[in-house]
Amino acid sequence: MTIIFISDLHLDEQRPDITELFLRFLKTEAKQASALYILGDFFEAWIGDDDLSPFNQTIISALKNATQQGLPIYMMHGNRDFLLGKNFFKQTGCVLLPDEYVLDIYGSPTLLLHGDTLCTTDTAYLKFRKKSRNWLMQKLFLLKSLQARLLLAKKYRDASKAHTSTLSDNIMDVTQAEVIRVMQKYQVQHLIHGHTHREAVHEFQLDNVLRTRTVLGAWHERGSALICDEFGNKRLVEIV
Ligand code: MN
Repeated sequence: MTIIFISDLHLDEQRPDITELFLRFLKTEAKQASALYILGDFFEAWIGDDDLSPFNQTIISALKNATQQGLPIYMMHGNRDFLLGKNFFKQTGCVLLPDEYVLDIYGSPTLLLHGDTLCTTDTAYLKFRKKSRNWLMQKLFLLKSLQARLLLAKKYRDASKAHTSTLSDNIMDVTQAEVIRVMQKYQVQHLIHGHTHREAVHEFQLDNVLRTRTVLGAWHERGSALICDEFGNKRLVEIV
């Protein structure tokens, strides 16, 4: 028995190789798992469930196939695909998780997050996040035509690229104080998140207990996944 975690695939029509890799992964490695968790930024961009481009439809039908064949797939919103909505989940059979979710992994309660909220030094981004997660702002955005939304999304992405290129490495990474705060809030020993693309397993002591923070890798040249088994083993593996 295994549970698989992935994030930050940034699926995009411009990267057919990564799309192919994911579709193959769904039919092979993921098929053996008891559940698949996708912790955000599955898509490079999502401008609304009514964007039924052939590319989006290919992904939707692959997910639907997998869930229909009995693989439970759970998803979290990332900072790029937070507009994944009811219709997407209805069509795919995937289940949307809240932004902070504690999962019992074979007896180890583990906090799951996308990870953007851990980067508390980037105040400009957190301001944008607050605005973009507001339901009224989302409603107003979704009322615009697809064409207008595509243009706006591109504008946001360009602005975000310009913004992050000016940030130091420290600002782009998580703040340890925030890691400790949320782990204490949920009283967990383990945390799994993505977003920073800094794949690693960090161990640290807190209140005399050894804690772990596992960072999932992004799918750039190849894929990356965390595989947890019933014996308590956790392995970060490459998907090729
Ligand atoms: Mn992200």
